[in-house]
Amino acid sequence: MLYLADIVLPISSPVITRGAVRVEGAQVVAVGSASELVARPGEEVIDLGASTLMPGLINAHCHLDYTKFKGSISSRQSFTEWIKNINALRRSFTPKEYIESIAEGFQMLARGGVTTVANIEAFPELLPQLPVPPLRTWWFLELIDVRTRLDQDEMLRNALGFFETHSDWPGGFGLSPHAPYTASVDLYRLARTCGEKYGMLSTTHIAESVEENEMFSNAQGPLYDFMAELGRDNSDCGQGSALSHLIEHGVIGNNCIIAHLNYLQDYDYELLANSGASVVHCPKCHTYFGHASFPLKTLREHGINICLGTDSLASNNTLDMRSEMREAQHLHGLSDREVLEMATIHGARALGQAGKLGQISPGSVADLVAFSLKPDEVNLPEIDPYHQVVHSREEPVLLVVNGRRIETELSLKI
Ligand SMILES: [Zn+2]
Repeated sequence: MLYLADIVLPISSPVITRGAVRVEGAQVVAVGSASELVARPGEEVIDLGASTLMPGLINAHCHLDYTKFKGSISSRQSFTEWIKNINALRRSFTPKEYIESIAEGFQMLARGGVTTVANIEAFPELLPQLPVPPLRTWWFLELIDVRTRLDQDEMLRNALGFFETHSDWPGGFGLSPHAPYTASVDLYRLARTCGEKYGMLSTTHIAESVEENEMFSNAQGPLYDFMAELGRDNSDCGQGSALSHLIEHGVIGNNCIIAHLNYLQDYDYELLANSGASVVHCPKCHTYFGHASFPLKTLREHGINICLGTDSLASNNTLDMRSEMREAQHLHGLSDREVLEMATIHGARALGQAGKLGQISPGSVADLVAFSLKPDEVNLPEIDPYHQVVHSREEPVLLVVNGRRIETELSLKI
Protein backbone atom coordinates (compact mmCIF):
# COMPACT_ATOMS: atom_id res chain seq x y z
CA MET A 1 0.00 0.00 0.00
CA LEU A 2 1.34 3.41 -0.98
CA TYR A 3 -0.03 6.60 0.60
CA LEU A 4 0.66 9.87 -1.21
CA ALA A 5 0.09 13.33 0.26
CA ASP A 6 1.04 16.90 -0.60
CA ILE A 7 2.85 17.07 2.73
CA VAL A 8 4.33 14.21 4.77
CA LEU A 9 5.32 15.13 8.32
CA PRO A 10 7.34 12.19 9.69
CA ILE A 11 8.17 14.11 12.97
CA SER A 12 11.48 12.22 13.33
CA SER A 13 12.82 13.62 10.05
CA PRO A 14 12.26 16.75 7.90
CA VAL A 15 8.99 17.60 6.18
CA ILE A 16 8.55 16.14 2.70
CA THR A 17 6.61 18.09 0.11
CA ARG A 18 4.59 15.75 -2.09
CA GLY A 19 5.63 12.71 -0.10
CA ALA A 20 4.90 9.00 -0.07
CA VAL A 21 4.68 6.36 2.64
CA ARG A 22 4.80 2.65 1.82
CA VAL A 23 3.05 0.32 4.26
CA GLU A 24 3.32 -3.46 4.26
CA GLY A 25 0.99 -5.18 6.69
CA ALA A 26 1.19 -3.24 9.95
CA GLN A 27 4.55 -1.66 9.23
CA VAL A 28 5.95 1.37 7.44
CA VAL A 29 8.70 0.12 5.13
CA ALA A 30 9.65 3.33 3.30
CA VAL A 31 9.06 7.07 3.39
CA GLY A 32 10.28 9.58 0.84
CA SER A 33 9.23 11.86 -1.98
CA ALA A 34 6.51 10.71 -4.35
CA SER A 35 8.98 10.99 -7.23
CA GLU A 36 11.29 8.45 -5.55
CA LEU A 37 8.70 6.06 -4.16
CA VAL A 38 6.81 4.94 -7.23
CA ALA A 39 3.93 2.48 -7.07
CA ARG A 40 4.88 -1.09 -7.87
CA PRO A 41 2.82 -3.08 -10.37
CA GLY A 42 -0.44 -4.06 -8.66
CA GLU A 43 0.25 -1.99 -5.52
CA GLU A 44 -2.77 -0.18 -4.08
CA VAL A 45 -2.31 3.60 -4.02
CA ILE A 46 -4.25 6.11 -1.91
CA ASP A 47 -3.54 9.68 -2.97
CA LEU A 48 -4.66 12.00 -0.18
CA GLY A 49 -3.93 15.08 -2.29
CA ALA A 50 -4.06 18.36 -0.37
CA SER A 51 -3.38 16.83 3.04
CA THR A 52 -0.72 16.47 5.71
CA LEU A 53 0.08 12.83 6.46
CA MET A 54 1.74 12.20 9.81
CA PRO A 55 1.98 9.65 12.64
CA GLY A 56 -1.21 9.31 14.68
CA LEU A 57 -1.33 11.38 17.87
CA ILE A 58 -0.69 9.80 21.27
CA ASN A 59 -2.90 10.66 24.25
CA ALA A 60 -0.79 9.61 27.21
CA HIS A 61 -3.41 10.07 29.94
CA CYS A 62 -7.11 9.39 29.62
CA HIS A 63 -10.03 7.79 31.48
CA LEU A 64 -12.47 6.58 28.80
CA ASP A 65 -14.85 5.40 31.55
CA TYR A 66 -15.76 9.01 32.30
CA THR A 67 -16.50 10.33 28.79
CA LYS A 68 -20.19 10.64 29.67
CA PHE A 69 -19.33 12.72 32.76
CA LYS A 70 -18.71 15.70 30.48
CA GLY A 71 -20.04 18.92 32.02
CA SER A 72 -21.26 17.16 35.20
CA ILE A 73 -18.81 18.66 37.68
CA SER A 74 -18.32 22.40 38.06
CA SER A 75 -14.71 23.59 38.07
CA ARG A 76 -15.52 26.22 40.69
CA GLN A 77 -14.79 24.07 43.71
CA SER A 78 -11.87 22.55 45.55
CA PHE A 79 -10.03 19.44 44.39
CA THR A 80 -11.36 17.49 47.40
CA GLU A 81 -14.94 18.49 46.51
CA TRP A 82 -14.27 17.41 42.91
CA ILE A 83 -13.17 13.96 44.19
CA LYS A 84 -16.33 13.62 46.27
CA ASN A 85 -18.40 14.56 43.19
CA ILE A 86 -16.70 12.09 40.87
CA ASN A 87 -17.04 9.32 43.46
CA ALA A 88 -20.80 9.98 43.61
CA LEU A 89 -21.04 10.01 39.79
CA ARG A 90 -19.07 6.76 39.57
CA ARG A 91 -21.59 5.05 41.82
CA SER A 92 -24.55 6.31 39.76
CA PHE A 93 -23.47 4.80 36.41
CA THR A 94 -24.46 1.34 35.18
CA PRO A 95 -22.04 -1.05 33.41
CA LYS A 96 -23.92 -0.37 30.15
CA GLU A 97 -23.37 3.36 30.53
CA TYR A 98 -19.66 2.83 31.16
CA ILE A 99 -19.38 0.73 28.00
CA GLU A 100 -21.15 3.47 26.01
CA SER A 101 -18.79 5.96 27.62
CA ILE A 102 -15.73 4.02 26.46
CA ALA A 103 -17.14 3.77 22.92
CA GLU A 104 -17.89 7.50 22.78
CA GLY A 105 -14.41 8.21 24.07
CA PHE A 106 -12.79 6.17 21.31
CA GLN A 107 -14.89 8.01 18.74
CA MET A 108 -13.89 11.40 20.13
CA LEU A 109 -10.21 10.43 20.18
CA ALA A 110 -10.34 9.21 16.58
CA ARG A 111 -12.03 12.43 15.43
CA GLY A 112 -9.08 14.35 16.82
CA GLY A 113 -6.49 12.17 15.07
CA VAL A 114 -5.43 10.00 18.01
CA THR A 115 -4.29 6.46 17.20
CA THR A 116 -2.81 5.56 20.62
CA VAL A 117 -4.29 6.13 24.07
CA ALA A 118 -3.05 5.34 27.57
CA ASN A 119 -6.35 4.62 29.28
CA ILE A 120 -6.88 4.09 33.00
CA GLU A 121 -9.56 1.47 33.51
CA ALA A 122 -11.41 1.61 36.81
CA PHE A 123 -13.75 -1.26 35.92
CA PRO A 124 -11.65 -4.09 34.44
CA GLU A 125 -14.65 -6.41 34.79
CA LEU A 126 -16.08 -4.59 31.73
CA LEU A 127 -13.21 -5.61 29.47
CA PRO A 128 -14.62 -9.04 28.47
CA GLN A 129 -17.70 -7.21 27.13
CA LEU A 130 -15.69 -5.03 24.76
CA PRO A 131 -14.88 -5.85 21.13
CA VAL A 132 -11.32 -5.41 19.83
CA PRO A 133 -10.56 -1.72 20.56
CA PRO A 134 -10.43 0.41 17.40
CA LEU A 135 -7.38 2.36 18.57
CA ARG A 136 -4.05 1.20 20.02
CA THR A 137 -4.79 1.19 23.72
CA TRP A 138 -2.79 0.60 26.85
CA TRP A 139 -5.28 -0.47 29.51
CA PHE A 140 -3.98 0.52 32.94
CA LEU A 141 -5.96 -1.23 35.65
CA GLU A 142 -6.71 1.23 38.43
CA LEU A 143 -5.60 0.12 41.90
CA ILE A 144 -7.03 1.68 45.07
CA ASP A 145 -6.78 0.25 48.58
CA VAL A 146 -7.70 3.11 50.85
CA ARG A 147 -10.77 1.34 52.24
CA THR A 148 -10.30 -2.33 51.43
CA ARG A 149 -7.17 -4.31 50.79
CA LEU A 150 -6.99 -5.79 47.29
CA ASP A 151 -6.24 -9.41 46.64
CA GLN A 152 -3.27 -8.45 44.48
CA ASP A 153 -2.44 -11.99 43.36
CA GLU A 154 -5.96 -12.70 42.15
CA MET A 155 -6.25 -9.35 40.37
CA LEU A 156 -2.94 -9.88 38.61
CA ARG A 157 -3.76 -13.48 37.66
CA ASN A 158 -7.08 -12.38 36.13
CA ALA A 159 -5.47 -9.50 34.25
CA LEU A 160 -2.60 -11.57 32.88
CA GLY A 161 -5.04 -14.31 31.86
CA PHE A 162 -7.34 -11.84 30.11
CA PHE A 163 -4.64 -10.10 28.10
CA GLU A 164 -2.92 -13.38 27.20
CA THR A 165 -6.12 -14.47 25.47
CA HIS A 166 -6.62 -11.06 23.82
CA SER A 167 -3.33 -10.69 22.02
CA ASP A 168 -5.20 -9.28 19.01
CA TRP A 169 -5.90 -6.08 20.97
CA PRO A 170 -3.46 -3.44 19.68
CA GLY A 171 -1.47 -1.91 22.56
CA GLY A 172 -0.92 -3.49 25.93
CA PHE A 173 -1.81 -3.32 29.57
CA GLY A 174 -0.36 -2.14 32.83
CA LEU A 175 -1.23 -1.16 36.37
CA SER A 176 -2.27 2.20 37.75
CA PRO A 177 -1.94 2.78 41.47
CA HIS A 178 -4.35 5.73 41.50
CA ALA A 179 -2.47 8.30 43.63
CA PRO A 180 -0.38 8.35 46.81
CA TYR A 181 -3.44 9.32 48.88
CA THR A 182 -5.57 6.38 47.64
CA ALA A 183 -2.99 3.68 46.90
CA SER A 184 -0.53 2.20 49.39
CA VAL A 185 3.19 1.80 48.80
CA ASP A 186 2.42 -1.93 48.45
CA LEU A 187 0.34 -1.24 45.32
CA TYR A 188 3.10 0.93 43.87
CA ARG A 189 5.55 -1.88 44.64
CA LEU A 190 3.33 -4.35 42.78
CA ALA A 191 3.30 -2.04 39.72
CA ARG A 192 7.09 -1.70 39.89
CA THR A 193 7.67 -5.44 40.30
CA CYS A 194 5.38 -6.19 37.33
CA GLY A 195 7.45 -3.71 35.30
CA GLU A 196 10.60 -5.66 36.09
CA LYS A 197 9.07 -9.12 35.80
CA TYR A 198 6.69 -8.77 32.84
CA GLY A 199 7.84 -5.54 31.16
CA MET A 200 4.52 -3.98 32.14
CA LEU A 201 4.03 -0.21 32.19
CA SER A 202 2.49 1.65 35.09
CA THR A 203 0.88 5.04 35.48
CA THR A 204 -0.26 7.15 38.41
CA HIS A 205 -1.33 10.64 39.49
CA ILE A 206 1.12 12.48 41.76
CA ALA A 207 1.30 16.04 43.15
CA GLU A 208 -1.80 17.07 41.24
CA SER A 209 -3.33 19.57 43.66
CA VAL A 210 -2.33 22.06 46.32
CA GLU A 211 -4.42 19.98 48.74
CA GLU A 212 -2.42 16.82 48.02
CA ASN A 213 0.77 18.82 48.53
CA GLU A 214 -0.56 20.15 51.84
CA MET A 215 -1.51 16.63 52.91
CA PHE A 216 1.91 15.09 52.36
CA SER A 217 4.14 18.07 53.13
CA ASN A 218 2.28 19.45 56.17
CA ALA A 219 -0.10 16.68 57.33
CA GLN A 220 -3.11 18.96 57.13
CA GLY A 221 -5.80 20.36 54.86
CA PRO A 222 -9.11 19.23 53.36
CA LEU A 223 -7.73 16.21 51.48
CA TYR A 224 -5.84 15.06 54.60
CA ASP A 225 -9.06 15.34 56.64
CA PHE A 226 -11.22 13.64 53.99
CA MET A 227 -8.83 10.70 53.64
CA ALA A 228 -8.64 10.36 57.44
CA GLU A 229 -12.47 10.18 57.50
CA LEU A 230 -12.29 7.34 54.95
CA GLY A 231 -10.00 5.47 57.33
CA ARG A 232 -6.63 6.14 55.70
CA ASP A 233 -3.65 5.76 58.01
CA ASN A 234 -2.09 9.16 57.40
CA SER A 235 1.15 8.42 59.24
CA ASP A 236 3.13 8.83 55.99
CA CYS A 237 2.12 12.52 55.85
CA GLY A 238 4.31 15.37 57.10
CA GLN A 239 7.50 13.69 55.91
CA GLY A 240 8.21 15.52 52.65
CA SER A 241 6.66 15.21 49.21
CA ALA A 242 4.70 12.14 48.16
CA LEU A 243 6.92 11.79 45.09
CA SER A 244 10.15 11.66 47.12
CA HIS A 245 8.51 9.24 49.55
CA LEU A 246 7.65 6.83 46.71
CA ILE A 247 10.99 7.18 44.92
CA GLU A 248 12.86 6.54 48.18
CA HIS A 249 10.84 3.33 48.56
CA GLY A 250 12.17 2.30 45.13
CA VAL A 251 8.69 1.94 43.62
CA ILE A 252 8.91 4.53 40.82
CA GLY A 253 10.99 3.38 37.87
CA ASN A 254 11.43 3.88 34.14
CA ASN A 255 8.25 1.88 33.43
CA CYS A 256 6.18 4.60 35.10
CA ILE A 257 4.26 7.48 33.51
CA ILE A 258 3.37 10.09 36.13
CA ALA A 259 0.45 12.41 35.47
CA HIS A 260 0.36 16.03 36.66
CA LEU A 261 3.31 16.82 39.02
CA ASN A 262 2.05 20.37 39.40
CA TYR A 263 3.43 20.89 42.90
CA LEU A 264 7.04 19.76 43.26
CA GLN A 265 9.69 20.49 45.86
CA ASP A 266 13.21 21.46 44.77
CA TYR A 267 14.58 18.09 45.82
CA ASP A 268 12.02 16.19 43.69
CA TYR A 269 13.55 17.01 40.30
CA GLU A 270 16.80 15.13 40.61
CA LEU A 271 15.11 12.14 42.20
CA LEU A 272 12.60 12.08 39.35
CA ALA A 273 15.28 12.41 36.67
CA ASN A 274 17.23 9.50 38.20
CA SER A 275 14.11 7.32 38.34
CA GLY A 276 13.74 7.43 34.53
CA ALA A 277 9.96 7.96 34.80
CA SER A 278 8.08 10.02 32.20
CA VAL A 279 5.70 12.86 32.99
CA VAL A 280 2.36 13.51 31.32
CA HIS A 281 1.04 17.05 31.40
CA CYS A 282 -2.71 17.60 30.90
CA PRO A 283 -2.95 21.31 29.98
CA LYS A 284 -6.73 21.71 29.77
CA CYS A 285 -7.35 19.79 32.99
CA HIS A 286 -4.67 22.00 34.54
CA THR A 287 -6.58 25.12 33.49
CA TYR A 288 -9.91 23.61 34.62
CA PHE A 289 -8.60 23.27 38.19
CA GLY A 290 -6.64 26.54 38.09
CA HIS A 291 -3.47 24.89 39.43
CA ALA A 292 -0.21 26.73 39.99
CA SER A 293 2.04 26.78 36.94
CA PHE A 294 3.20 23.34 35.69
CA PRO A 295 7.04 23.34 36.05
CA LEU A 296 7.66 22.41 32.41
CA LYS A 297 10.90 24.38 32.08
CA THR A 298 12.55 22.88 35.18
CA LEU A 299 11.47 19.34 34.26
CA ARG A 300 12.97 19.85 30.79
CA GLU A 301 16.19 21.19 32.26
CA HIS A 302 16.50 17.91 34.16
CA GLY A 303 16.10 15.96 30.90
CA ILE A 304 12.75 14.46 31.92
CA ASN A 305 10.50 13.17 29.12
CA ILE A 306 7.23 15.16 29.05
CA CYS A 307 4.25 14.09 26.97
CA LEU A 308 0.64 15.25 26.74
CA GLY A 309 -2.74 13.85 27.75
CA THR A 310 -6.34 14.96 28.00
CA ASP A 311 -7.27 13.36 31.33
CA SER A 312 -11.01 12.64 31.45
CA LEU A 313 -14.11 14.59 30.52
CA ALA A 314 -14.80 14.99 34.25
CA SER A 315 -12.23 17.81 34.08
CA ASN A 316 -12.10 18.66 30.37
CA ASN A 317 -14.57 19.35 27.54
CA THR A 318 -12.93 17.37 24.73
CA LEU A 319 -10.52 14.51 24.07
CA ASP A 320 -9.05 16.35 21.05
CA MET A 321 -5.27 16.40 21.44
CA ARG A 322 -4.99 19.39 19.09
CA SER A 323 -6.87 21.37 21.70
CA GLU A 324 -4.37 20.18 24.37
CA MET A 325 -1.45 21.23 22.18
CA ARG A 326 -2.94 24.71 21.72
CA GLU A 327 -3.51 25.01 25.48
CA ALA A 328 0.10 23.91 26.13
CA GLN A 329 1.23 26.68 23.80
CA HIS A 330 -0.97 29.18 25.59
CA LEU A 331 0.36 28.12 29.04
CA HIS A 332 4.03 27.70 28.19
CA GLY A 333 4.76 29.58 24.95
CA LEU A 334 5.89 26.41 23.15
CA SER A 335 6.37 26.19 19.38
CA ASP A 336 4.06 24.16 17.13
CA ARG A 337 6.83 21.65 16.62
CA GLU A 338 7.50 21.28 20.35
CA VAL A 339 3.87 20.51 21.20
CA LEU A 340 3.56 18.11 18.26
CA GLU A 341 6.64 16.23 19.47
CA MET A 342 5.10 16.00 22.95
CA ALA A 343 1.95 14.50 21.39
CA THR A 344 3.89 11.98 19.28
CA ILE A 345 7.50 10.91 19.93
CA HIS A 346 7.50 11.86 23.61
CA GLY A 347 4.34 9.84 24.19
CA ALA A 348 5.94 6.93 22.33
CA ARG A 349 9.01 7.12 24.57
CA ALA A 350 6.82 7.10 27.69
CA LEU A 351 5.08 3.95 26.43
CA GLY A 352 8.40 2.23 25.70
CA GLN A 353 7.70 2.51 21.95
CA ALA A 354 10.42 4.91 20.82
CA GLY A 355 11.09 4.45 17.11
CA LYS A 356 7.89 2.43 16.66
CA LEU A 357 5.08 4.89 17.43
CA GLY A 358 4.82 8.66 17.07
CA GLN A 359 6.93 8.85 13.93
CA ILE A 360 6.95 7.71 10.31
CA SER A 361 10.16 5.90 9.48
CA PRO A 362 11.12 2.53 8.01
CA GLY A 363 10.28 0.00 10.72
CA SER A 364 7.75 2.16 12.55
CA VAL A 365 4.23 0.88 13.07
CA ALA A 366 1.68 2.03 10.48
CA ASP A 367 -0.40 4.25 12.78
CA LEU A 368 -1.14 7.25 10.59
CA VAL A 369 -3.39 10.27 10.39
CA ALA A 370 -4.00 12.80 7.63
CA PHE A 371 -5.54 16.24 8.00
CA SER A 372 -6.68 18.18 4.95
CA LEU A 373 -4.93 21.41 4.05
CA LYS A 374 -7.07 24.50 3.65
CA PRO A 375 -7.49 25.32 -0.07
CA ASP A 376 -5.55 28.59 0.23
CA GLU A 377 -2.58 26.80 1.86
CA VAL A 378 -2.03 24.11 -0.73
CA ASN A 379 0.39 25.83 -3.06
CA LEU A 380 2.20 28.08 -0.64
CA PRO A 381 5.85 27.18 -0.34
CA GLU A 382 6.03 28.94 3.03
CA ILE A 383 3.31 26.84 4.68
CA ASP A 384 4.32 25.57 8.13
CA PRO A 385 2.84 22.05 8.38
CA TYR A 386 3.42 21.88 12.13
CA HIS A 387 1.34 25.02 12.63
CA GLN A 388 -1.28 23.81 10.19
CA VAL A 389 -1.82 20.54 12.10
CA VAL A 390 -1.85 22.05 15.60
CA HIS A 391 -4.37 24.68 14.54
CA SER A 392 -6.59 22.47 12.40
CA ARG A 393 -10.08 21.75 13.68
CA GLU A 394 -11.53 19.43 11.06
CA GLU A 395 -11.75 15.69 11.48
CA PRO A 396 -8.95 13.71 9.85
CA VAL A 397 -9.42 12.51 6.28
CA LEU A 398 -7.55 9.29 7.07
CA LEU A 399 -6.87 7.29 10.22
CA VAL A 400 -4.82 4.09 10.10
CA VAL A 401 -4.13 1.84 13.10
CA ASN A 402 -1.79 -1.12 12.73
CA GLY A 403 -1.93 -0.74 8.94
CA ARG A 404 -5.73 -0.90 8.92
CA ARG A 405 -7.94 2.03 7.92
CA ILE A 406 -10.38 3.13 10.65
CA GLU A 407 -13.59 4.99 9.91
CA THR A 408 -13.99 7.81 12.42
CA GLU A 409 -17.76 7.43 12.37
CA LEU A 410 -19.49 4.07 12.16
CA SER A 411 -17.06 1.31 12.89
CA LEU A 412 -16.27 2.64 16.36
CA LYS A 413 -19.71 1.75 17.68
CA ILE A 414 -19.48 -0.80 20.47
ZN1 LIG B 1 -6.30 11.17 35.47
